[in-house]
Amino acid sequence: MIDISNLTIEQAHKDLLAKKYSARDLAQAYLDVISAKNSDINAFVEVYSDVLKQADAADAIIAAGKATKLTGIPVAVKDNILVKDNIASSASAMLKDYHSTYDATAIKRLKEAGAVLIGRTNMDEFAMGGSTEKSIYGATKNPHDTSRVPGGTSGGSAAAVAMGGTLVSLGSDTGGSVRQPASFCGIVGLKPTYGSVSRYGLMAAVSSFDQIGPMGKTVGDVKALFEIVRGQDINDGTTISTTTYPVKPLKGTKGVIGIPRELISDGIDTQVKKNFDESVEKFKALGYEIKDISVPHARYALPAYYIINFAEISSNLGRFDGVRYGLYKEGKTLIDDYVQSRTAGFGKEARRRILLGAYVLSSGYYDAYYNKANALRELIRGDYAKAFEEVDVILTPTTPAPAWKIGEKSSNPMEMYLADVFTVTPNLTGMPALSMPSGLAAVDGKQLPLGVQLVGAHGADEHLFTIAASFLGE
Ligand code: GLN
Repeated sequence: MIDISNLTIEQAHKDLLAKKYSARDLAQAYLDVISAKNSDINAFVEVYSDVLKQADAADAIIAAGKATKLTGIPVAVKDNILVKDNIASSASAMLKDYHSTYDATAIKRLKEAGAVLIGRTNMDEFAMGGSTEKSIYGATKNPHDTSRVPGGTSGGSAAAVAMGGTLVSLGSDTGGSVRQPASFCGIVGLKPTYGSVSRYGLMAAVSSFDQIGPMGKTVGDVKALFEIVRGQDINDGTTISTTTYPVKPLKGTKGVIGIPRELISDGIDTQVKKNFDESVEKFKALGYEIKDISVPHARYALPAYYIINFAEISSNLGRFDGVRYGLYKEGKTLIDDYVQSRTAGFGKEARRRILLGAYVLSSGYYDAYYNKANALRELIRGDYAKAFEEVDVILTPTTPAPAWKIGEKSSNPMEMYLADVFTVTPNLTGMPALSMPSGLAAVDGKQLPLGVQLVGAHGADEHLFTIAASFLGE
């Protein structure tokens, strides 16, 4: 029996090279957990049929002495990332039978590294939401308390790691969808600097925000996965190289951590607030300098984020008309074809955002909403750039409260949007952000994970790893 409970990529890599077990044994260990737990948790919507075949191929690479760090490592993949010849549906009726005709660049790189793709994970439809309840496959449950949500939209990828169904996973983050579920499930998740990871083969939600992000139990695992999937890509003109942004060395003896006090006041759960204060103390004890900073426009981040989100979603989802792409339902006329197809194909949240997006982009309101949101985006970016002259990273809670009950916020989209108050800013600015476990909150007799978020300057993903690893004692 392989003990997978505390297994890291580094340890598994050593064990595989030392022939302690094979990649096949390792894959089987995770498949066994999936068989035991997935019918309850619903993290995976499909386990790929060729997992053991992939593991055998990894064993052959190891035997030939050509293993990379990721060879034989099980990776779960969010259902909006394309894996050739497999279904990728974005958990939507619109794409429920769509078979990918090519590999996303991130997947291509994982395959080249010899990783074992274990299956696709549940999500909120087209990466809109924050609870992994809005899926044609039903809700995913939080492994720490199955009456609660795992967060979203990459809730399946987070729960898959937390329940032990995979070593690491890929999610996507448009406004927090890697970090918020990582926080709710007690794991580590990174939203890389915009452009670090190719979006080729990631279904577009909000193209100017979206990044594929790695998730795992440790900073080391997240970093190892990031190092494989990152890098420039001819198929995505927004990708950057590791030298695009000059990264300054950490300031002072260890590093300087900025606290935007003005953002961490009202509307925050008392246990989250207490845990945050304790996390600040822990950083102090570790030798970091703590500095209060001001980011005056950050309080407008949430409305600016949602206006741009709706606008880009309505444009990106325009392609799913039943003719060019997606589910087709025959109507009485061509227009009726579109109406029938899009009504049957999209869930309520998708339709809400398409309508609101069309509204904020309409000629009468474009200046009032979309342009204003973009102007705010620049002001917020400026505030953060200025703050990073003084500090290395900015610390906030990842979410204002721990995981909520399944169904609790389903009828109130506004409440769900408010849960993104800390996570949307790095997507607006393009800066990297990482969520890591910071403790537990006692709620209804259960221990629910809490997380804190580190935000860095453009290109400073490595600083996030260094500081997070020091916080977690890795
Ligand atoms: N909760 C946010 C939204 O609904 C973020 C989603 C995401 O990151 N994909 O837009």
